Amino acid sequence: MIKRIIYILFSILIVSILVARIYLPAQVDRQMNPVTAHAPFKISDGARELHQDLIIGDWHADSFLWSRDLTTDNDHGHVDIPKLQQGNVALQMFTTVTKSPSGQNYEKNETDARDNITALAIAQGWPIKTWRSLAERAIFQAKKIKKLSQENPNDLMIIKSQNDVKNFLEQRKSNKDLIGGLIGTEGSHALDGDIKNVQRLYEEGFRMMSLHHFFDNKLGGSLHGTSGQGLSEFGYEVVNLIEDLEIILDVSHSSQNVVKDVLKISSRPLVVSHTGFNGHCKSARNIDDSLMQSIAKKGGLIAIGYWDGAICNNTPKAVAEALVYGIDLVGEDHLSLGSDFDGTITPGFDTSELAAITDWLLKLGATEEQIRKIMGENMLRFIQKYLPKGNN
Ligand SMILES: [Zn+2]
Repeated sequence: MIKRIIYILFSILIVSILVARIYLPAQVDRQMNPVTAHAPFKISDGARELHQDLIIGDWHADSFLWSRDLTTDNDHGHVDIPKLQQGNVALQMFTTVTKSPSGQNYEKNETDARDNITALAIAQGWPIKTWRSLAERAIFQAKKIKKLSQENPNDLMIIKSQNDVKNFLEQRKSNKDLIGGLIGTEGSHALDGDIKNVQRLYEEGFRMMSLHHFFDNKLGGSLHGTSGQGLSEFGYEVVNLIEDLEIILDVSHSSQNVVKDVLKISSRPLVVSHTGFNGHCKSARNIDDSLMQSIAKKGGLIAIGYWDGAICNNTPKAVAEALVYGIDLVGEDHLSLGSDFDGTITPGFDTSELAAITDWLLKLGATEEQIRKIMGENMLRFIQKYLPKGNN
């Protein structure tokens, strides 16, 4: 009898662990990364043909935060390899989220608010060292990206240098399904306050680093924190080292004072990897248009997101309208795509449906040349110029 009770209790324990490990994370992913239900988009033949001929690049997707199998065409989430291929995406920056405050909002978040990623890491069975170290969380997600590439070399190639870009373009001539993946951070709290971790992340393949996420950190103020401060002493040191290592600097989520401070000292152009324009959509998520112009003047790129907090809507039409607004404000050479796919947003489409953006850009009067640049050639040109040269 006792044996039987122990057996039953043990079985319940095993089932509970399996439910917690497999079912719960999948449910959270499904709930956090939905797509607004919609009828298939009507896309003109001309737009479809042009879309297939574009080099498409996106600066921001958090897909590796989740335990989704990215090799299959999932019925949930925004990005996986088949969907990237259907959307004709050539370049995808995968960003790694390491801390996210509970009650997260665009106005004000305390640095010491309870962190949601800890629970997610534990529920998804991440290594114990990721439970307390944000650097380990970033590195663990990067390892998942590299593993996916090693196991699917015809689908995903990791790009870390200008030479990699060259090889990628060469291979893509005969394999249009090949996606070039880059690795970035979402916020430099991922350094765990230790400047040595910049080099460590570089060695792990990180080629873009943003300074902030939703809260102030050791580098300075977040756009959604409490201080509004500029760069700290530590922030200056980190920015200088990031530039020395030729890591691309992303100022998304940073306070306006941080952006101004970085603009004063940076010798390389900046990227805003996922944003909207305040003049198109007034939102606490977006920095002033004048700052966007300053970033563009120094050769930077503004990458437009696909969710209502950035562009006041989530449709392909709204994305195209934000981009057309940007052409007037900063010029066609300084615009890119920055979806924020799989970043707990609700877009009106997933990455397999990007032709709908091309279609709307045409409808709104953008020229073919403008569309080519915005949809990805600007990103390609940027990484061709600003990644480390590489030695292969
Ligand atoms: Zn973000």
